[in-house]
Amino acid sequence: MMLGKTQNIIRALGRRIAAWRGRHLVSFVDEDPEQVESGKIYVIGEGGHPWYAAMACPCGCGETLKLAMIEGSRPRWSFVRHWDDTVSLKPSVWRKVGCKSHFWVRDGRIDWC
Ligand SMILES: [Zn+2]
Repeated sequence: MMLGKTQNIIRALGRRIAAWRGRHLVSFVDEDPEQVESGKIYVIGEGGHPWYAAMACPCGCGETLKLAMIEGSRPRWSFVRHWDDTVSLKPSVWRKVGCKSHFWVRDGRIDWC
């Protein structure tokens, strides 16, 4: 029980540092977020099964990007949640329309292609 508490404190500290460094933090929700805040990656799903992720396009164009994670979808993204609640996404995100942004999310950081 003590260990769980310590882990929570470390995670909370990690989140603060990551946010301060401008990293994207994961937020688990069970329905489509009404407002998508920049700097957050929402993972929408139920019972530990992610359906899709949503995030504001990091270029600032104002679009909300939705990334399918459900089995059978193509392309299908997967994510890794790190100790400080930052995430890495695979594969890269490449918008074919609009701003045509192409980037990776690694450790909550946007790596432009
Ligand atoms: Zn954009």
